Amino acid sequence: MITVITIDGPSGAGKSTVARRLSSILGYDYIDSGALYRIVALEAIQKKIDGKNDKDLLPICEDLKVNFLVENGNYKIIYQGRDVSDSIRTPEISMLASRISAKKVVRDRLSALQRRMGKRGHIVLEGRDAGTVVFPDAPVKFFLDATPKERGRRRFEELRLKGIDVNLAQVTNEVMKRDENDRSRRHAPLVPASDAVIIDSSHMTVEDVVTRMTEVIQKKLKGV
Ligand code: C5P
Repeated sequence: MITVITIDGPSGAGKSTVARRLSSILGYDYIDSGALYRIVALEAIQKKIDGKNDKDLLPICEDLKVNFLVENGNYKIIYQGRDVSDSIRTPEISMLASRISAKKVVRDRLSALQRRMGKRGHIVLEGRDAGTVVFPDAPVKFFLDATPKERGRRRFEELRLKGIDVNLAQVTNEVMKRDENDRSRRHAPLVPASDAVIIDSSHMTVEDVVTRMTEVIQKKLKGV
């Protein structure tokens, strides 16, 4: 029985959309690990912490109580009783999340939190290191990629639909900068797991990607 499915990849590759779709098809729980890094960034900003010192970040990471809810088909992220689903998506939070996620003290705590959240199994976990570090023994791993131009365009559309005022060049630059940070960091850099199925979604629809993933999962279930 497959209990953990990991989906890693760079920003804007479409991980969240397909992870949600897949978890709903399979009846699995969905864990958005990026949201955890974003909540640490949100809390740091609210506490006026610049995110440079481990000792400032540690209490935030140790006291992170987050719930992922689905209400009428809408995914909500609840932190300390507040719905933070939209407030963690700003460009400022994205950049700070990327910066603090390079810190070992943060990664160790949030990886442990993800393992606790996923210990009952039947989860689709989306992230950067879900298949390499958090659940290296996951039976099904995907690495979802797309060209930087396409990823910039998708992230731009997503922010625009949320009513956030951004321009395409600025968003594409921000996505590329975050990728560079994620790929070059010392701890848990963004790389595909050696046993991950790599999918380039640049010219694929969401349905195409979900179909491809479902085929891989079916094969795994049949032991092919
Ligand atoms: O996936 P999302 O764009 O919401 O993640 C925000 C940031 O959090 C990423 O740019 C990345 O730096 C960091 N992150 C990470 N490891 C994860 C998930 C996200 O380093 N598992």
